[in-house]
Amino acid sequence: MTGLGTRVDLVLRGFRFEAPVRRGPGAGPSDDGHVLVGGLGAAIPRNPQSPYEVVDGRVLYDGDDTGLDLEVVARPRFYDLATTDGVPFEKLARLHGKDVLATTVVQTCVRYDEAERCRFCAIEESLAAGATTAVKTPAQLAEVARAAVDLDGVRQMVMTTGTSNGKDRGARHLARCVRAVKAAVPELPIQVQCEPPGDLAVLTELREAGASSIGIHVESMDDTVRARWMTGKSTVSLDEYRAAWREAVRVFGRNQVSTYLLVGLGEDPDELVAAAEELALMGVYPFVVPFRPIPGTLAAQDGAAPPRADVLEDVTRRVGKVLVHLGMRGSDQKAGCAACGACGLLSGVGA
Ligand code: SF4
Repeated sequence: MTGLGTRVDLVLRGFRFEAPVRRGPGAGPSDDGHVLVGGLGAAIPRNPQSPYEVVDGRVLYDGDDTGLDLEVVARPRFYDLATTDGVPFEKLARLHGKDVLATTVVQTCVRYDEAERCRFCAIEESLAAGATTAVKTPAQLAEVARAAVDLDGVRQMVMTTGTSNGKDRGARHLARCVRAVKAAVPELPIQVQCEPPGDLAVLTELREAGASSIGIHVESMDDTVRARWMTGKSTVSLDEYRAAWREAVRVFGRNQVSTYLLVGLGEDPDELVAAAEELALMGVYPFVVPFRPIPGTLAAQDGAAPPRADVLEDVTRRVGKVLVHLGMRGSDQKAGCAACGACGLLSGVGA
């Protein structure tokens, strides 16, 4: 098995390992332990049935060394602190990978009704479990960010949001949060993530607030897949996404805009690669990520399975080739999921 092949298999099967830093079920498609595999950030599901284990910093498959080393991300010190109004920092923002501070500024989503919600998403589950708060205030996030940078060497921040009822779909609260964090920690690059805001001028507001990068996540460019997996969100048309991406590239710059593309929702792999190329040519980084059913999602209830390893490897290689050819690397983004790379495998092919 090649290095990428082993990584793909590891990401799909998970490992028998309790990483000290992990992401619980929440917004988006991941619930994993955060580690570095071969020096690259990786989000690996915990799975007691997996043939992979970690011994003395090496990844073993059924006891055999895979050739990959694994470095654990230590529990950050900021988790033990609280805001001046008494909210534990850990409930407001989490460490992702080695040096990313991630928060969901509004932990509810207007689309979370069972008939509407994205089948891979568990945004309100961590809220129901009491692991987080519904709305993070700009002042709280400024306090967490300052501490995370000072105590734990955090180098970038990701702010996502559930979708609100407003015309801006939640983007204006994001802008207020960005402004407060930048005032407290001017050196910290921030990526914001939201649906296409109805009023595209909000994208300029986000940039002027101090966001360096933006993720406008479509998850699939196949309308049939969108209708099946994202009943509510698919009512926002692909044309609306395209208009938002184009404006975002104008405002934030080429390769400071990204979108998730999930592998494993039943899409045609060739069409996924073609969609990734369309995005890349537009200046939007297509962050290709395997779908994995996480607890608390409708997909997990349905028994949905992750993609086949050979399909994920093939799509990752082909999209990686396009990106390398166009000179677009995730690590060239100033902040965000593409810059982090841990939830996908593109960084493993140089993209
Ligand atoms: S890719 Fe995004 S969601 Fe995944 S660990 Fe990195 S910052 Fe978090």
